[in-house]
Amino acid sequence: MEILKESEWEGLFSEAIADLAELIRFKTVNPPGNEKPAAEWLAEILRENGLEPRLIEAAPGRANVICRLKGTGEKPPILLDGHLDVVSAEDESKWKYPPFSGQIADGYLWGRGALDMKQTVIANLMAMLALKRAGVKLKRDLILAAVADEEAGCKYGAGFLVDNHPDLIRAEYGLGEIGGFSMEMSGKRFYPIEVAEKAVCWFRIKARGEPGHGSIPSPESSVIKLAQAIRKLGEHKLPYHLTPQVKEFVTGLAANLGGFKGFMLKRLLNPLLADLIIDKVLPDKKLARTFWAVLHNTVNPTVVRAGEKTNVIPSEAMVEVDGRLLPGQTSDDLMNEVKEIIGDGYELETININRIGAMAQDPHDPIFKVFERRLKARDPQAIVIPWLLVGFTDGSYYARLGIKYFGFSPLRLIPGDNFQDGFHGFNERIPIEGYKFGLRVFLETVTELVTEF
Ligand SMILES: [Zn+2]
Repeated sequence: MEILKESEWEGLFSEAIADLAELIRFKTVNPPGNEKPAAEWLAEILRENGLEPRLIEAAPGRANVICRLKGTGEKPPILLDGHLDVVSAEDESKWKYPPFSGQIADGYLWGRGALDMKQTVIANLMAMLALKRAGVKLKRDLILAAVADEEAGCKYGAGFLVDNHPDLIRAEYGLGEIGGFSMEMSGKRFYPIEVAEKAVCWFRIKARGEPGHGSIPSPESSVIKLAQAIRKLGEHKLPYHLTPQVKEFVTGLAANLGGFKGFMLKRLLNPLLADLIIDKVLPDKKLARTFWAVLHNTVNPTVVRAGEKTNVIPSEAMVEVDGRLLPGQTSDDLMNEVKEIIGDGYELETININRIGAMAQDPHDPIFKVFERRLKARDPQAIVIPWLLVGFTDGSYYARLGIKYFGFSPLRLIPGDNFQDGFHGFNERIPIEGYKFGLRVFLETVTELVTEF
């Protein structure tokens, strides 16, 4: 069904863009987040439109908005997620327009959160409002979640809702960041849709040795042993793992690029060649690192601690490592991979403060075809491929409730505008025309999902 008449779209786009500019003006930098004023503003819009939002405060100032548009219940709900918080925008002098102004200029709407991800919060809002205003009969409830605290680990946002209010958000599918944006490669236009996320597995490596006085050399000191382990982690590679989601991603990319590039990319599916190709053949080093991260568990030593005094050899030295796991991998798997590299004589322990598990959906889930069809209807050049996010989002939390989460927040970018650079970078901005394109695709997709799918 058509959600809007052809003549009504421009009005909706203007409303969305004005709302997005206003939402950007709420300074929801996390920490501290302070999402409550933005949440109240959003709830008020929902109320004005005859909806009944709930404001849920996970901690003072850390508010989440949940709103449900009721359907017949013939099918389970669809959840639309967006986070209200943003990362900081330090060094405002590096911005062309002030980061919290919501300035519209040069064909863009500028500001922190324009991409990550207030644009999606507003797209979700517009989808709900359009369906409500049109009085569409839904087969499924549509749930809107505008949450706090994604940028600092989701504790007061999606994590809190999953733990404390699961019934408010339980759904068959969830849509949110990060995917559906256009990515131009070799004159082709790809739209990667996120179907998986890596898990977080932080851990410590401890080395012990004889303590002693700094005046007597000790090659067996804890610090030297630890340094050797860190050096090995930097020099040696963790093993290759091909997940079904990445297999689809690489296959789709290679088949559509064709030529030498396609030929080389296809070789990434070969465990004997992949590492060599990433290291030696791919000319774009940034791209190469991304391919590395989607085909391996990764480790990054970040915090190092040892002695207190310059003249005392400490008995213990420790490094904290940010480990990331591919779907299907366990922390034990990673510990074994690390032991294989650093050898014996170390104590490894996982740090249990972060319990974010990997998220992986079937790249052949029927919903994927809906995304693909709706994108192609508005952009016949669209090539839609699944992809794996090496970080995590609210999606990893929702997946714990069995919600099938997909990063689908469509957006047509201007070639040369790198989507990832806008995230957390200076001069974050969204192209106005591309946002209108995305809003239309998104509203048409959501309408299909709640009425026909
Ligand atoms: Zn985000």
